[in-house]
Amino acid sequence: MVYVIKCDSCGFILYRGEEPKTVEAVLKMWGGTCPKCMSPLERRPIKIAIGLIGRRRGAPA
Ligand SMILES: [Zn+2]
Repeated sequence: MVYVIKCDSCGFILYRGEEPKTVEAVLKMWGGTCPKCMSPLERRPIKIAIGLIGRRRGAPA
């Protein structure tokens, strides 16, 4: 399962990985601002897509 957190304004992928991260942790990674569109992330809801980017590696769960 892959967790994807995107900027709600431009769709920039702020985080993508198999480990779930809190929104706050991701915001701190980028200093609370989207590096692409410079939107203040803290004031916007961030879309969190889980498992949308599914690349099956053949690993049994
Ligand atoms: Zn953005």
